[in-house]
Amino acid sequence: MTITRWDPARVDDDLVGLSRRLGKSRADQVILAEGNTSKRLSDGLIAVKASGASLANATHGDFVLIDPRLLMELVGSVSCTQEVISEALQVTAPESEGRRASIEAIIHAVVQTVHAVRYVAHTHPTDVVAVLSSPQAESAFVHPAYSDEAVVLGETLFVPYAQPGLELGRLFAARLAEYWGRLGRLPSLVLLQNHGIVAISDTVDGIESICGMAVKAARVRLGAYAAGGLVSLPEGSRSTYLERTEIAERRSQISGVAR
Ligand SMILES: [Zn+2]
Repeated sequence: MTITRWDPARVDDDLVGLSRRLGKSRADQVILAEGNTSKRLSDGLIAVKASGASLANATHGDFVLIDPRLLMELVGSVSCTQEVISEALQVTAPESEGRRASIEAIIHAVVQTVHAVRYVAHTHPTDVVAVLSSPQAESAFVHPAYSDEAVVLGETLFVPYAQPGLELGRLFAARLAEYWGRLGRLPSLVLLQNHGIVAISDTVDGIESICGMAVKAARVRLGAYAAGGLVSLPEGSRSTYLERTEIAERRSQISGVAR
């Protein structure tokens, strides 16, 4: 069963450009080889960043193609182990020079098997990880602190800490399926405790807006905690704001998949 392939010709400039911009130090999304991006291709395969490659210097050859459906079949089998997954993510063709999909490719595959979407990005922004490593981790982003946060991030999904790889992949799949079952849409932002974020959107602009707004929302919280505590937007005001036609349209444009 071939789950992973290498075909740089199928990796487009939009994915490479997005990856490089997220990798820039001023965005504070990742350092070194942290984080990964993916794009869904027309045949349902996803191009996802290879392990060890940096987002900041990503090239077309730094992505591998995986079949999300086959990967999730493997993840779902009771006999699956971390070693089995690691082997499945390895490209066997010699011209790939040993490239392997990031172990966090499971996160990208999970999203696609819940509902197809064009882009997924997973990063580790310093300020967001700070909040997600604090006693407020689970509750911090439940209620928005300001109106633009509500528009860009929508209703976030929190996933408790699990070891990256198979363990996180399975927990992430369960929590995302529960969110989908409850709301009938994908979240724009998933918060991974003691780890980072997952941004989900049909557009490059949407991914960058979500990642940037997640950093701002975290900084606002850190400032508010230092100033005595966070006072969120009043619930009634938030819901009526989001129901306004122009605001609902903007939210829809950012997510591409949700309102
Ligand atoms: Zn990560």
